[in-house]
Amino acid sequence: MFDPTLQESDPDVARLIQAEQRREFDTIRLIASENYVSRAVLEATGSVFTNKYSEGYAGKRYYEGQQCVDPLETLAIERAKSLFQADHANVQPYSGSPANLAVYFATLKPGDTVMGMALPSGGHLTHGWKVSITGAFFRSVQYGVDATTGLIDMDAVRALAVAERPKLIIAGATAYPRIIDFAAFRAIADEVGATLLVDMAHIAGLVAGGAHPSPVPHAHVVSTTTHKTLRGPRGAMLLCKESMAKDIDKAVFPGLQGGPHNHTTAGIAVALKEAATPAFRDYAHQIVTNARALADGLGAEGFKLVSGGTDNHLILMDVTPRGMTGKAFAQALDRAGLECNYNTVPNDPRKPFDPSGLRLGAASVTSRGMKAPEMARIAAWFGQVADAVNDPDALDRIRATVHEFTSAFPCPGIRV
Ligand SMILES: *Cc1c(COP(=O)(O)O)cnc(C)c1O
Repeated sequence: MFDPTLQESDPDVARLIQAEQRREFDTIRLIASENYVSRAVLEATGSVFTNKYSEGYAGKRYYEGQQCVDPLETLAIERAKSLFQADHANVQPYSGSPANLAVYFATLKPGDTVMGMALPSGGHLTHGWKVSITGAFFRSVQYGVDATTGLIDMDAVRALAVAERPKLIIAGATAYPRIIDFAAFRAIADEVGATLLVDMAHIAGLVAGGAHPSPVPHAHVVSTTTHKTLRGPRGAMLLCKESMAKDIDKAVFPGLQGGPHNHTTAGIAVALKEAATPAFRDYAHQIVTNARALADGLGAEGFKLVSGGTDNHLILMDVTPRGMTGKAFAQALDRAGLECNYNTVPNDPRKPFDPSGLRLGAASVTSRGMKAPEMARIAAWFGQVADAVNDPDALDRIRATVHEFTSAFPCPGIRV
Protein backbone atom coordinates (compact mmCIF):
# COMPACT_ATOMS: atom_id res chain seq x y z
CA MET A 1 0.00 0.00 0.00
CA PHE A 2 1.25 3.48 -0.86
CA ASP A 3 1.73 5.33 2.43
CA PRO A 4 2.68 8.83 1.38
CA THR A 5 4.50 11.33 3.57
CA LEU A 6 2.75 14.50 4.64
CA GLN A 7 4.68 16.39 1.97
CA GLU A 8 3.40 13.96 -0.69
CA SER A 9 -0.18 13.68 0.50
CA ASP A 10 -0.86 17.22 1.63
CA PRO A 11 1.67 19.80 0.48
CA ASP A 12 -0.59 22.63 1.67
CA VAL A 13 -0.46 21.55 5.30
CA ALA A 14 3.20 20.56 4.99
CA ARG A 15 4.02 24.05 3.71
CA LEU A 16 2.17 25.70 6.59
CA ILE A 17 4.06 23.56 9.10
CA GLN A 18 7.34 24.57 7.46
CA ALA A 19 6.30 28.21 7.52
CA GLU A 20 5.31 28.03 11.19
CA GLN A 21 8.69 26.48 12.05
CA ARG A 22 10.41 29.33 10.24
CA ARG A 23 8.21 31.90 11.98
CA GLU A 24 8.92 30.45 15.41
CA PHE A 25 12.64 30.42 14.62
CA ASP A 26 12.78 33.97 13.28
CA THR A 27 10.65 35.58 15.98
CA ILE A 28 11.39 36.65 19.54
CA ARG A 29 8.47 34.88 21.17
CA LEU A 30 7.33 36.55 24.38
CA ILE A 31 3.80 35.20 24.77
CA ALA A 32 3.80 34.12 28.41
CA SER A 33 1.74 30.94 27.83
CA GLU A 34 3.89 29.57 25.00
CA ASN A 35 7.17 27.70 24.74
CA TYR A 36 9.23 25.41 22.49
CA VAL A 37 8.91 21.69 23.23
CA SER A 38 11.85 19.38 22.66
CA ARG A 39 12.21 17.10 19.65
CA ALA A 40 11.54 14.17 21.96
CA VAL A 41 8.23 15.68 23.10
CA LEU A 42 7.23 16.43 19.49
CA GLU A 43 8.07 12.87 18.48
CA ALA A 44 6.06 11.31 21.30
CA THR A 45 3.11 13.62 20.64
CA GLY A 46 3.12 12.66 16.96
CA SER A 47 3.16 8.93 17.70
CA VAL A 48 0.78 6.02 17.00
CA PHE A 49 -0.71 6.46 20.46
CA THR A 50 -3.07 8.83 18.64
CA ASN A 51 -4.68 5.68 17.18
CA LYS A 52 -5.69 4.13 20.47
CA TYR A 53 -8.88 4.35 22.53
CA SER A 54 -8.60 3.74 26.27
CA GLU A 55 -11.59 5.07 28.21
CA GLY A 56 -11.11 4.34 31.90
CA TYR A 57 -7.93 4.08 33.93
CA ALA A 58 -5.02 1.61 33.94
CA GLY A 59 -6.33 -1.86 34.80
CA LYS A 60 -9.99 -0.76 34.40
CA ARG A 61 -10.45 0.10 30.72
CA TYR A 62 -13.50 -0.21 28.52
CA TYR A 63 -11.49 -1.33 25.49
CA GLU A 64 -9.02 -4.16 24.90
CA GLY A 65 -5.46 -3.73 23.66
CA GLN A 66 -4.12 -1.61 26.54
CA GLN A 67 -0.79 -3.49 26.78
CA CYS A 68 1.12 -0.30 25.93
CA VAL A 69 -1.27 2.46 27.05
CA ASP A 70 -1.57 1.24 30.65
CA PRO A 71 2.18 1.34 31.35
CA LEU A 72 2.44 4.66 29.47
CA GLU A 73 -0.23 6.38 31.53
CA THR A 74 1.12 4.85 34.74
CA LEU A 75 4.60 6.15 33.88
CA ALA A 76 3.25 9.66 33.30
CA ILE A 77 1.32 9.53 36.60
CA GLU A 78 4.32 8.28 38.59
CA ARG A 79 6.56 10.96 37.08
CA ALA A 80 4.00 13.68 37.87
CA LYS A 81 3.63 12.50 41.47
CA SER A 82 7.36 12.34 42.00
CA LEU A 83 8.15 15.68 40.33
CA PHE A 84 5.50 17.62 42.25
CA GLN A 85 5.45 15.51 45.44
CA ALA A 86 1.74 14.86 45.00
CA ASP A 87 -0.31 12.00 46.47
CA HIS A 88 -2.31 11.47 43.30
CA ALA A 89 -2.16 12.59 39.66
CA ASN A 90 -4.62 12.45 36.78
CA VAL A 91 -3.00 13.11 33.40
CA GLN A 92 -6.10 12.74 31.23
CA PRO A 93 -7.61 16.27 31.06
CA TYR A 94 -7.59 17.48 27.45
CA SER A 95 -6.39 20.94 28.43
CA GLY A 96 -6.37 23.44 31.27
CA SER A 97 -9.98 24.57 30.87
CA PRO A 98 -11.53 21.08 31.04
CA ALA A 99 -9.19 20.23 33.93
CA ASN A 100 -10.64 23.12 35.91
CA LEU A 101 -14.20 22.21 34.93
CA ALA A 102 -13.59 18.68 36.20
CA VAL A 103 -12.68 20.16 39.59
CA TYR A 104 -15.96 22.11 39.60
CA PHE A 105 -17.80 18.87 38.79
CA ALA A 106 -15.98 17.06 41.59
CA THR A 107 -16.67 19.70 44.24
CA LEU A 108 -19.82 21.71 43.31
CA LYS A 109 -23.45 21.38 42.32
CA PRO A 110 -24.86 23.78 39.71
CA GLY A 111 -25.64 27.08 41.45
CA ASP A 112 -23.08 26.57 44.24
CA THR A 113 -20.73 29.45 44.94
CA VAL A 114 -17.20 29.57 43.57
CA MET A 115 -14.67 32.31 44.27
CA GLY A 116 -11.84 33.07 41.86
CA MET A 117 -9.79 35.96 40.56
CA ALA A 118 -11.52 38.25 38.08
CA LEU A 119 -10.30 38.08 34.49
CA PRO A 120 -9.39 41.79 34.26
CA SER A 121 -7.21 41.38 37.36
CA GLY A 122 -5.30 38.45 35.87
CA GLY A 123 -7.56 35.47 36.62
CA HIS A 124 -8.50 32.89 33.98
CA LEU A 125 -11.88 32.63 32.22
CA THR A 126 -12.46 29.30 34.00
CA HIS A 127 -12.10 30.89 37.44
CA GLY A 128 -15.75 31.97 37.30
CA TRP A 129 -15.73 34.76 34.70
CA LYS A 130 -19.27 35.52 33.53
CA VAL A 131 -18.95 34.46 29.87
CA SER A 132 -17.47 31.08 30.89
CA ILE A 133 -19.58 28.05 31.82
CA THR A 134 -17.89 28.41 35.23
CA GLY A 135 -19.55 31.81 35.70
CA ALA A 136 -22.85 30.89 34.01
CA PHE A 137 -23.73 27.56 35.71
CA PHE A 138 -22.30 28.42 39.13
CA ARG A 139 -22.71 31.41 41.41
CA SER A 140 -19.42 33.21 41.00
CA VAL A 141 -17.94 35.84 43.28
CA GLN A 142 -14.63 37.37 42.30
CA TYR A 143 -11.69 39.03 43.98
CA GLY A 144 -9.27 41.36 42.22
CA VAL A 145 -6.03 43.14 42.88
CA ASP A 146 -5.36 46.36 44.73
CA ALA A 147 -5.66 49.26 42.28
CA THR A 148 -2.47 50.99 43.37
CA THR A 149 -0.13 48.09 44.24
CA GLY A 150 -1.42 45.62 41.64
CA LEU A 151 -1.20 42.93 44.35
CA ILE A 152 -3.81 40.52 45.71
CA ASP A 153 -5.09 41.93 48.99
CA MET A 154 -5.47 38.87 51.23
CA ASP A 155 -7.62 40.80 53.72
CA ALA A 156 -10.07 41.58 50.92
CA VAL A 157 -10.00 37.92 49.78
CA ARG A 158 -10.77 36.78 53.31
CA ALA A 159 -13.59 39.31 53.77
CA LEU A 160 -15.22 38.17 50.51
CA ALA A 161 -14.90 34.50 51.47
CA VAL A 162 -16.38 35.06 54.93
CA ALA A 163 -19.30 37.04 53.45
CA GLU A 164 -20.05 34.69 50.51
CA ARG A 165 -19.06 31.25 51.92
CA PRO A 166 -17.87 29.76 48.60
CA LYS A 167 -17.59 25.97 48.36
CA LEU A 168 -14.61 26.25 46.02
CA ILE A 169 -11.86 28.87 46.16
CA ILE A 170 -9.45 29.22 43.25
CA ALA A 171 -5.99 30.74 43.52
CA GLY A 172 -3.74 31.12 40.51
CA ALA A 173 -3.65 33.41 37.52
CA THR A 174 -2.91 33.90 33.90
CA ALA A 175 -1.52 37.44 34.20
CA TYR A 176 -0.12 38.03 37.69
CA PRO A 177 3.60 38.74 38.02
CA ARG A 178 4.04 38.03 41.72
CA ILE A 179 4.16 35.02 44.05
CA ILE A 180 0.75 34.10 45.44
CA ASP A 181 0.49 33.28 49.15
CA PHE A 182 -0.90 29.74 48.86
CA ALA A 183 -0.77 29.15 52.64
CA ALA A 184 -2.93 32.23 53.26
CA PHE A 185 -5.45 31.00 50.68
CA ARG A 186 -5.57 27.63 52.41
CA ALA A 187 -6.17 29.24 55.80
CA ILE A 188 -9.13 31.16 54.31
CA ALA A 189 -10.48 28.02 52.63
CA ASP A 190 -10.30 26.15 55.96
CA GLU A 191 -12.00 29.02 57.78
CA VAL A 192 -15.04 28.94 55.48
CA GLY A 193 -15.03 25.20 54.76
CA ALA A 194 -14.11 25.53 51.08
CA THR A 195 -12.02 23.32 48.83
CA LEU A 196 -8.89 25.11 47.62
CA LEU A 197 -7.94 24.69 43.98
CA VAL A 198 -4.63 26.20 42.93
CA ASP A 199 -4.33 26.60 39.17
CA MET A 200 -0.57 26.66 38.51
CA ALA A 201 -0.85 26.55 34.70
CA HIS A 202 1.59 29.39 34.14
CA ILE A 203 4.15 28.59 36.82
CA ALA A 204 4.24 24.76 36.74
CA GLY A 205 7.69 24.66 35.15
CA LEU A 206 9.06 27.08 37.73
CA VAL A 207 7.59 24.95 40.52
CA ALA A 208 9.03 21.78 38.96
CA GLY A 209 12.46 23.40 38.78
CA GLY A 210 12.39 24.80 42.30
CA ALA A 211 12.29 28.41 41.11
CA HIS A 212 8.89 29.17 42.66
CA PRO A 213 7.13 27.95 45.85
CA SER A 214 4.95 24.89 45.30
CA PRO A 215 1.18 25.06 45.90
CA VAL A 216 0.99 21.26 46.27
CA PRO A 217 1.42 21.14 50.08
CA HIS A 218 -1.31 23.77 50.53
CA ALA A 219 -4.05 23.02 48.00
CA HIS A 220 -6.64 20.26 48.08
CA VAL A 221 -6.31 20.11 44.30
CA VAL A 222 -3.78 21.60 41.90
CA SER A 223 -4.56 21.98 38.21
CA THR A 224 -2.00 22.73 35.56
CA THR A 225 -1.57 22.87 31.85
CA THR A 226 1.45 20.98 30.57
CA HIS A 227 2.37 23.28 27.68
CA LYS A 228 3.46 26.57 29.27
CA THR A 229 6.59 26.85 31.44
CA LEU A 230 6.47 23.06 31.95
CA ARG A 231 7.39 22.74 28.25
CA GLY A 232 5.27 19.73 27.37
CA PRO A 233 2.56 19.14 24.77
CA ARG A 234 -0.82 20.88 24.98
CA GLY A 235 -2.60 19.09 27.79
CA ALA A 236 -3.26 19.25 31.50
CA MET A 237 -3.00 17.40 34.81
CA LEU A 238 -4.77 17.39 38.14
CA LEU A 239 -2.79 16.70 41.31
CA CYS A 240 -4.57 16.10 44.60
CA LYS A 241 -4.54 14.63 48.07
CA GLU A 242 -5.36 10.93 48.31
CA SER A 243 -8.70 11.76 49.97
CA MET A 244 -9.90 13.45 46.75
CA ALA A 245 -8.38 11.03 44.26
CA LYS A 246 -11.55 9.05 43.56
CA ASP A 247 -13.73 12.15 43.11
CA ILE A 248 -11.22 13.80 40.78
CA ASP A 249 -10.77 10.70 38.64
CA LYS A 250 -14.54 10.18 38.37
CA ALA A 251 -15.06 13.84 37.43
CA VAL A 252 -12.54 13.63 34.57
CA PHE A 253 -13.83 10.26 33.32
CA PRO A 254 -16.69 9.50 32.96
CA GLY A 255 -17.84 12.89 34.31
CA LEU A 256 -16.49 15.21 31.67
CA GLN A 257 -14.47 13.36 29.05
CA GLY A 258 -14.37 10.21 26.98
CA GLY A 259 -11.13 8.61 25.86
CA PRO A 260 -7.86 10.22 26.91
CA HIS A 261 -5.50 11.54 24.23
CA ASN A 262 -2.80 8.91 24.60
CA HIS A 263 -0.37 10.60 22.20
CA THR A 264 -0.55 13.65 24.50
CA THR A 265 0.00 11.41 27.52
CA ALA A 266 3.16 10.15 25.81
CA GLY A 267 4.37 13.72 25.29
CA ILE A 268 3.52 14.63 28.90
CA ALA A 269 5.51 11.64 30.18
CA VAL A 270 8.55 12.75 28.20
CA ALA A 271 8.21 16.37 29.34
CA LEU A 272 7.95 15.26 32.99
CA LYS A 273 11.16 13.25 32.64
CA GLU A 274 12.90 16.29 31.16
CA ALA A 275 11.52 18.52 33.93
CA ALA A 276 13.11 16.29 36.59
CA THR A 277 16.65 16.90 35.31
CA PRO A 278 19.28 19.31 36.70
CA ALA A 279 19.26 21.05 33.31
CA PHE A 280 15.58 21.87 33.76
CA ARG A 281 16.25 23.27 37.25
CA ASP A 282 18.79 25.61 35.67
CA TYR A 283 16.25 26.45 32.96
CA ALA A 284 13.54 27.33 35.51
CA HIS A 285 15.86 29.58 37.50
CA GLN A 286 17.11 31.23 34.30
CA ILE A 287 13.51 32.04 33.32
CA VAL A 288 13.08 34.02 36.55
CA THR A 289 16.46 35.74 36.10
CA ASN A 290 15.56 36.63 32.53
CA ALA A 291 12.10 37.93 33.42
CA ARG A 292 13.68 40.24 36.03
CA ALA A 293 16.30 41.45 33.57
CA LEU A 294 13.65 42.10 30.93
CA ALA A 295 11.46 43.91 33.47
CA ASP A 296 14.38 46.12 34.52
CA GLY A 297 15.13 46.97 30.90
CA LEU A 298 11.51 47.76 30.10
CA GLY A 299 11.18 49.95 33.18
CA ALA A 300 14.24 51.89 32.02
CA GLU A 301 12.53 52.36 28.62
CA GLY A 302 9.65 54.17 30.33
CA PHE A 303 7.05 51.39 30.51
CA LYS A 304 5.02 51.12 33.70
CA LEU A 305 5.27 47.64 35.20
CA VAL A 306 2.21 46.39 37.09
CA SER A 307 3.34 45.75 40.71
CA GLY A 308 6.69 47.32 39.79
CA GLY A 309 8.33 44.13 38.54
CA THR A 310 8.09 40.33 38.59
CA ASP A 311 8.79 37.29 40.79
CA ASN A 312 7.98 34.74 38.12
CA HIS A 313 8.23 34.33 34.34
CA LEU A 314 5.72 37.02 33.48
CA ILE A 315 5.58 40.79 33.08
CA LEU A 316 2.47 42.91 32.82
CA MET A 317 2.98 46.50 31.78
CA ASP A 318 1.08 49.63 30.98
CA VAL A 319 2.36 51.08 27.70
CA THR A 320 0.17 54.20 27.60
CA PRO A 321 2.90 56.34 29.24
CA ARG A 322 4.75 55.91 25.93
CA GLY A 323 1.79 57.44 24.10
CA MET A 324 0.06 54.40 22.56
CA THR A 325 -2.36 51.58 23.35
CA GLY A 326 -1.51 47.94 23.99
CA LYS A 327 -3.01 46.73 20.74
CA ALA A 328 -1.22 49.25 18.51
CA PHE A 329 2.05 48.43 20.24
CA ALA A 330 1.56 44.65 20.04
CA GLN A 331 0.87 44.93 16.31
CA ALA A 332 3.94 47.10 15.73
CA LEU A 333 6.07 44.66 17.75
CA ASP A 334 4.76 41.75 15.69
CA ARG A 335 5.77 43.53 12.50
CA ALA A 336 9.23 44.03 14.02
CA GLY A 337 9.55 40.33 14.87
CA LEU A 338 8.70 40.48 18.58
CA GLU A 339 5.60 38.51 19.51
CA CYS A 340 3.50 39.17 22.61
CA ASN A 341 -0.13 39.83 23.48
CA TYR A 342 -2.02 42.96 24.44
CA ASN A 343 -3.63 42.71 27.85
CA THR A 344 -5.69 44.73 30.27
CA VAL A 345 -3.91 46.13 33.29
CA PRO A 346 -5.65 46.32 36.70
CA ASN A 347 -8.42 48.93 36.65
CA ASP A 348 -7.84 49.49 32.97
CA PRO A 349 -9.88 52.46 31.75
CA ARG A 350 -9.72 50.99 28.22
CA LYS A 351 -11.71 48.09 26.70
CA PRO A 352 -10.28 44.51 26.65
CA PHE A 353 -10.08 44.51 22.84
CA ASP A 354 -7.80 47.56 22.88
CA PRO A 355 -6.42 47.74 26.40
CA SER A 356 -3.57 49.73 27.96
CA GLY A 357 -1.09 46.96 28.43
CA LEU A 358 1.01 44.07 27.23
CA ARG A 359 1.73 40.73 28.83
CA LEU A 360 5.19 39.21 28.27
CA GLY A 361 6.85 36.00 29.38
CA ALA A 362 10.43 34.75 29.37
CA ALA A 363 9.87 30.99 28.98
CA SER A 364 10.37 30.71 25.20
CA VAL A 365 13.41 32.98 24.89
CA THR A 366 15.00 31.10 27.81
CA SER A 367 14.41 27.80 25.98
CA ARG A 368 16.62 29.23 23.22
CA GLY A 369 19.50 29.82 25.63
CA MET A 370 19.09 33.58 25.90
CA LYS A 371 20.30 35.23 29.09
CA ALA A 372 20.32 38.67 30.77
CA PRO A 373 22.36 40.48 28.05
CA GLU A 374 19.84 39.31 25.43
CA MET A 375 16.98 40.53 27.64
CA ALA A 376 18.61 43.97 27.64
CA ARG A 377 18.70 43.94 23.84
CA ILE A 378 15.06 42.89 23.66
CA ALA A 379 14.07 45.71 26.04
CA ALA A 380 15.95 48.17 23.83
CA TRP A 381 14.00 46.95 20.79
CA PHE A 382 10.78 47.61 22.72
CA GLY A 383 11.92 51.20 23.11
CA GLN A 384 12.77 51.49 19.40
CA VAL A 385 9.45 49.98 18.33
CA ALA A 386 7.59 52.35 20.65
CA ASP A 387 9.30 55.25 18.84
CA ALA A 388 8.37 53.78 15.44
CA VAL A 389 4.79 52.55 16.01
CA ASN A 390 3.51 54.44 12.97
CA ASP A 391 6.57 53.97 10.78
CA PRO A 392 6.35 50.62 8.92
CA ASP A 393 9.72 51.10 7.22
CA ALA A 394 11.46 51.59 10.54
CA LEU A 395 9.66 48.52 11.93
CA ASP A 396 10.88 46.47 8.96
CA ARG A 397 14.45 47.63 9.60
CA ILE A 398 14.13 46.50 13.23
CA ARG A 399 12.78 43.18 12.00
CA ALA A 400 15.92 42.62 9.93
CA THR A 401 18.14 43.06 12.98
CA VAL A 402 15.83 40.84 15.04
CA HIS A 403 16.15 38.06 12.43
CA GLU A 404 19.90 38.31 12.48
CA PHE A 405 19.82 38.10 16.28
CA THR A 406 17.46 35.08 16.50
CA SER A 407 19.49 33.11 13.95
CA ALA A 408 22.20 32.69 16.61
CA PHE A 409 19.85 30.94 19.08
CA PRO A 410 18.71 27.42 18.17
CA CYS A 411 15.13 26.42 19.02
CA PRO A 412 14.42 23.09 20.70
CA GLY A 413 12.44 20.91 18.31
CA ILE A 414 13.08 23.03 15.21
CA ARG A 415 15.63 22.51 12.49
CA VAL A 416 15.59 25.11 9.75
C1 LIG B 1 -3.73 28.71 30.17
C2 LIG B 1 -4.54 28.63 31.42
C3 LIG B 1 -5.65 27.80 31.52
C4 LIG B 1 -6.32 27.12 30.36
O1 LIG B 1 -5.62 26.32 29.59
P1 LIG B 1 -6.14 25.85 28.15
O2 LIG B 1 -5.24 24.71 27.93
O3 LIG B 1 -5.92 27.02 27.25
O4 LIG B 1 -7.57 25.46 28.27
C5 LIG B 1 -6.27 27.70 32.75
N1 LIG B 1 -5.84 28.39 33.80
C6 LIG B 1 -4.79 29.24 33.73
C7 LIG B 1 -4.38 30.00 34.93
C8 LIG B 1 -4.12 29.41 32.53
O5 LIG B 1 -3.11 30.27 32.46
